[in-house]
Amino acid sequence: MNYVRKILESFIEFVFPATCPLCNARVSTHGELCDDCWTSFNWIDGAKCVKCGFPFASSFDLSPNMLCPTCAAGKAELDLIRSACVYDDASKLAMLPYKHAGHTQYARFMSRAMIWALRDTDIQPDIVMPVPLANKRLFHRGYNQATLLARPIANAFGVPMDLDSVTRKYRENMGHKSSKQRAENVHNVFTVRHSDKIKGKKILLVDDVMTTGATFNELKRVLTKAGAIAVYGVTFCRVAHLAN
Ligand SMILES: [Zn+2]
Ligand SMILES: [Zn+2]
Repeated sequence: MNYVRKILESFIEFVFPATCPLCNARVSTHGELCDDCWTSFNWIDGAKCVKCGFPFASSFDLSPNMLCPTCAAGKAELDLIRSACVYDDASKLAMLPYKHAGHTQYARFMSRAMIWALRDTDIQPDIVMPVPLANKRLFHRGYNQATLLARPIANAFGVPMDLDSVTRKYRENMGHKSSKQRAENVHNVFTVRHSDKIKGKKILLVDDVMTTGATFNELKRVLTKAGAIAVYGVTFCRVAHLAN
């Protein structure tokens, strides 16, 4: 049987060679990045805030339980956040086609990087919830980019994905607005439809990018009101201005 499978795999590899989803260079595993593309990203793999994952400059000599100023001031809403990389020119090159041009094949390396970003945590979510998209936006885009990332993450934790407990109203794009305006724009945008599925649960929220954290904070607010006992978040990239 193994022999037959090996022949079949070599045949598939011959017909559809594994290529880097970003630049089409040959790679050994389907869906993985080549070395050049991998190193172009600013992965958050050094010192970071133990609570919200904010990356610190690599020159910092930190204790393992260091908090960023926001978390140290008790202003963090979510119980824990991690992101795989910083939102910069390199991650933008992947994010924009992923989100707006149907390059859904990127979900594989992105979700793997997000699972990797959670490796130093001991969270045990009961459900994984992609940040809901308004129906109008889902209709135009054809997919929720957060759901594609959430599925492999839910599989990695061995827990179900929740796609229907919370709905989102349509609002115009926020563009480049201040964090206060972003928070106002997302206020009351989510509605919990099935609080019985939320009550007493630890929930891991999944999104592609975190800008100010306003979306996560608003979801945390409505989920906690519905009885969630912990709300975590994971994103592929996050806006983070590194201090040197
Ligand atoms: Zn590449
Ligand atoms: Zn923090």
